[in-house]
Amino acid sequence: MISCNICGSGLGEPLYVSPQGISVTSLCEVYHEKTEVFFCSTCSHLQTTEISDLQGYYDTIYKILIDSEEEDQLYSIEGNIKVFRVEHQAKTLLEKIDLIQGARVLDYGCAKAATMKCLSRTRPDLKLYLYDVSSMYVPFWERFIQSSHWSTYTIEQAWFDSFDVVTSFFALEHVASPVEMLSNVLRLLKPGGVFYCIVPNVYTNIADFVVLDHVNHFSDASLLRLFNACGFVETTIDDASHRGAFVVVARKPDGASSGVPEPSANGLNQQCHAIAAYWSDITQRIAAFEADNQGTPSIIYGSGFYGTFLAACLTNLDLVYCFVDRNPFRQGKTLLDKPIVSPEELPDKPFPIYVGLNPSIARQSIEDIRQWQGRPYSYFFP
Ligand SMILES: [Zn+2]
Repeated sequence: MISCNICGSGLGEPLYVSPQGISVTSLCEVYHEKTEVFFCSTCSHLQTTEISDLQGYYDTIYKILIDSEEEDQLYSIEGNIKVFRVEHQAKTLLEKIDLIQGARVLDYGCAKAATMKCLSRTRPDLKLYLYDVSSMYVPFWERFIQSSHWSTYTIEQAWFDSFDVVTSFFALEHVASPVEMLSNVLRLLKPGGVFYCIVPNVYTNIADFVVLDHVNHFSDASLLRLFNACGFVETTIDDASHRGAFVVVARKPDGASSGVPEPSANGLNQQCHAIAAYWSDITQRIAAFEADNQGTPSIIYGSGFYGTFLAACLTNLDLVYCFVDRNPFRQGKTLLDKPIVSPEELPDKPFPIYVGLNPSIARQSIEDIRQWQGRPYSYFFP
């Protein structure tokens, strides 16, 4: 029997198994294997069966935004101003923790380390270090950090007990042993040092539930349980500073101090069942919309995870004319061999449009596209 990554309890039957055995990864790749999600009734953790050969996957296959130096994900659009994820992450980090002059900062599981690069521009005084389980990002690191400040695959022994701050931006959800990762982070920090960690919040971004390579889907209760068990103190969990995510700040003890009491996991069981039902149901809703528009060329709005998931559910992808995305880094590229275009480029014809966005923002995002108002499009909302 599979056991919980956080508390070790047996997990029983999966709460969700992807229909048709199709799965989508966080990098928008379609995998022909099933996604299985389990709920731990002891600690409220949600857990996905890991991809076979997880190590090899991160070493050579997982290439996040590696196409260019600047490529980034869109975080929000405020009026006409596009805010990208990396700048939001750097800004939030500086707002939430007090980085002393010349602090030693390690980004653990850093990929391109784009947030650190952004930080190095506003805070050149910081001593930045990088660690990842792949060497394919070294060409990005070389541009702003000296080679003695990074390590791949194994952690430098000399780094233990030396960092003022360790950061982790969207890494903990990927690892098969979060306890091992947190134990490493604790050893790397100085006594009193701070761990700053962002993970997806499946309760506000429900797509996280079906991301194949997200092994862990945390709740505030399972996060606190994990951080307490690994020896961190003064743990705070913030679900407001980064949309769709939890920002966790915790400290390595520098003397006797006590952990934070865990919040009740009551009610999460029902919420998780509702999310599982949503994902089981949406494939049927997509099939019905596709049947209603049989033979008509269609559009998918959004070339991220939701858009890819919609595409993977269609029986006839040939009828998809293109993807539409407002992120300029996505425009001009292709997804599943279809072009990705800007909203302005879409002809004024009666297209069925599958909206591939977080359901909580989908309707508003479409209403915000001025050029599309009054057009004869028909929408599938997630
Ligand atoms: Zn558990």
